[in-house]
Amino acid sequence: MAKWVYSFGDGKAEGASAMKELLGGKGANLAEMANLGLPVPPGFTISTEVCTYYYANGQSYPPELKDQVDAALNHVGALAGHVFADPENPLLVSVRSGARASMPGMMDTVLNLGLNDVTVEAIARSSGDERFAWDSYRRFIQMYSNVVLGVEHHNFEEILEVHKDQKGYFQDTDLTAFDWRKVVASYKEAVERETKKPFPQDPREQLWGAISAVFSSWMNQRAITYRRLHDIPQSWGTAVNVQAMVFGNMGETSATGVAFTRNPSTGENALYGEFLVNAQGEDVVAGIRTPQNITEIARIAAKSDKPSMETVMPEVFNEFVRATQLLERHYRDMQDMEFTVERGKFWMLQTRNGKRTGRAALRVAVEMATSGLITREEAISRIEPGSLDQLLHPTLDPNAEKIIIATGLPASPGAACGEIVFSSDDAETLKAAGHKVILVRVETSPEDISGMHAAEGILTTRGGMTSHAAVVARGMGKPCVSGAGAVRVDYAAQTLTAQGRTFSKGDVITVDGTAGQVMEGAVPMLQPEVSGEFAELMGWADEVRRLKVRANADTPADARIARQFGAEGIGLCRTEHMFFDNERIVAVREMILAENEEGRRAALAKILPMQRSDFASLFEIMHGLPVTIRLLDPPLHEFLPHTSEEIAEVATAVGSTPEKLKRRADELHEFNPMLGFRGVRLAIAFPEIAEMQARAIFEGAVEAQAKTGRPVIAEIMAPLVFSKRELDLVKARIDAMAEAVASETGVAIPYHVGTMIELPRAALRAGEIAETAEFFSFGTNDLTQTTLGISRDDAGSFLGAYVQKGILPQDPFISIDVDGVGELVALAAERGRKTRDGIKLGICGEHGGDPASIAFCEKTGLDYVSCSPYRVPIARLAAAQAALGHAARSTA
Ligand code: PEP
Ligand code: MG
Repeated sequence: MAKWVYSFGDGKAEGASAMKELLGGKGANLAEMANLGLPVPPGFTISTEVCTYYYANGQSYPPELKDQVDAALNHVGALAGHVFADPENPLLVSVRSGARASMPGMMDTVLNLGLNDVTVEAIARSSGDERFAWDSYRRFIQMYSNVVLGVEHHNFEEILEVHKDQKGYFQDTDLTAFDWRKVVASYKEAVERETKKPFPQDPREQLWGAISAVFSSWMNQRAITYRRLHDIPQSWGTAVNVQAMVFGNMGETSATGVAFTRNPSTGENALYGEFLVNAQGEDVVAGIRTPQNITEIARIAAKSDKPSMETVMPEVFNEFVRATQLLERHYRDMQDMEFTVERGKFWMLQTRNGKRTGRAALRVAVEMATSGLITREEAISRIEPGSLDQLLHPTLDPNAEKIIIATGLPASPGAACGEIVFSSDDAETLKAAGHKVILVRVETSPEDISGMHAAEGILTTRGGMTSHAAVVARGMGKPCVSGAGAVRVDYAAQTLTAQGRTFSKGDVITVDGTAGQVMEGAVPMLQPEVSGEFAELMGWADEVRRLKVRANADTPADARIARQFGAEGIGLCRTEHMFFDNERIVAVREMILAENEEGRRAALAKILPMQRSDFASLFEIMHGLPVTIRLLDPPLHEFLPHTSEEIAEVATAVGSTPEKLKRRADELHEFNPMLGFRGVRLAIAFPEIAEMQARAIFEGAVEAQAKTGRPVIAEIMAPLVFSKRELDLVKARIDAMAEAVASETGVAIPYHVGTMIELPRAALRAGEIAETAEFFSFGTNDLTQTTLGISRDDAGSFLGAYVQKGILPQDPFISIDVDGVGELVALAAERGRKTRDGIKLGICGEHGGDPASIAFCEKTGLDYVSCSPYRVPIARLAAAQAALGHAARSTA
């Protein structure tokens, strides 16, 4: 008979942590903790296969399931000493979802299930605490009605507020057993009013309602969005965990808390967490009461006047510390745990590998490898390359003047500035329009995931370090300040008020998630650097990777950053980017608009010295590392003057009339500039442009070589080539210029001539092209554009639908389309190598910084990837992981 249900408790379990696919992360780890002998309340897991069955069979259950659940319930009851649905000695349970990966978008938890008008009296008798029983019952009604029956929280909150007002109470703790009875009666009326049915009294009906709610939540919109953002397949399904209740709210010797074995923000090796005396789990996460520190050291550091768990319940604390150490050693990773203390008895409720910031991930991995708990290869494989992004972004300049408007908790490190928005929808809309935004909410919920994704940073006025905003922001690597209690948010007016000042939607603020501060305006930031554990791990990665990593750098500033981040050369210098400078653009326009060669040569003579010094400084900064310079590749429209002032400016410079120039500009207008007069076509039609650039390169190289004493390695390439003949023509000019400069200066610069492969025809003719080309650099931006026939500048409006409908696995401009574009790359590499053994192969499209694309480059045997300077460390790590055969995730 098929097995759908797996029990655990009393030091043993039918499952284990290796069974995550079947039991989900939570269920597998509960089983594992039971097997390790840790105190886990008994329970059982309904497997993910039931979820699969449920959706494959019109949302129904396998026929054997009911009996298996009943048997498991009896077993749990026997271990806990209670009986489910028994009016005298009832077993109460929690019901939680548990997918393989934790998924905030889903139904999370129902506690105290099994309570009804009869069992609540039994609990009152057995606990000797009537108030506790009725408080538990009202919590259950509220939670169950919300997550299972869809009754909104405010229905209950209003009832409670009215009751407190009538009685003159301020806090929930002021309510007596009698008060809670009244509240329960009103809650039940509210449920009946909202759902047109009385609140279910039958514990079995309650249980199956909760189980179905978990399985249904697998397909709710939030869960679907979360899966899309995190590449989680729909086919995985979720499990359901049913577990005997233990109570953290049975008085002063009871407590509940969450903790990490190390600090999830910094990675420091110190137990880190929060707890609340006399509370249930949701109280910690909801941020209603301010939690207390677990350790004394943390309490002192936080300057908290509330006693730590270490002082309040020292014995339980010691037991907990032992459990945390055992778990970290066992799982060989930082653990994120939940626990409850019921009248002095300690229980573990959950453990899982903890989410952490990029910085913490680095520190934890490096320290664990250094202490021998994991290997260096494991340390390398554990860091999501994309997570380094947050370390590669600016932090606040400590010397900058800043006007602090509010302080809160340093929930997720890093700094960001942007325009204030108060809703996730606005965050997404403005982000799509190119704005940078800070999402400001009272507290975030799973509905805000896409808005948080769109925002540069997050500010909340409620919630602690383990609130939704804090946990999710850390996972995303976004700066977050949470619980800035003095800030008032008015959603209706779209304003926030802090220190008596009001800021509106669209006003710019800066949040510093490292310090927990909010500042007015955009505060100046400092550039990041690779040091400490970051540098250490990068060193380990460099030892194992085969692929070289270069940078796409067009300016000396880019080149310097690239070197700082460990680039091993420049893989692409887009020379046209050097031309947008105010001083230069006029001469460039002059060149483009010239009527004849003479006019062009006059303009080129003005540009030459500027280009020479550009190249000289690039060579100098790269200090003997290879520098690949691409000949001019201007989609002409980017350079043409548009306004009448711009036209007049060029007319004055060349001694022409604005009318004449306007006519020339109109002549040059193209319907499809991306497929127009650009790339090598320019050097074919106007070879003097390529000649000027070649001269600037060789003269710049001579200059740099003299200055640094290091030999320059110059690589010159032509863009948008599709035939050998094009390259032959250009190469002849370059060779001639090399000779000319050598004889003029007496210095012969070694150089290589190669080509971009960025058109399908170039890939197909690669064998022939390699007769001339000494290297290939795959321009996968254009190659994607031309292979898919999708304009790289116009894809935004429909690509989303293509990804959503599964036509493309992800945005092919971010992560390489392995099946199509990838096949062309592989084919060109093979044909190129056949002609020219050992031909150097690199990639310089945006894909060069995308981990999944880098894995493809490793597989295809390319020599290097080239990416934007800020992505160089990400590429170094991704290349190491690719060499280790670690599956990469795209950053798309
Ligand atoms: C490319 O097409 O991939 C490339 C690197 O060139 P550009 O983006 O400048 O067209
Ligand atoms: Mg290109």
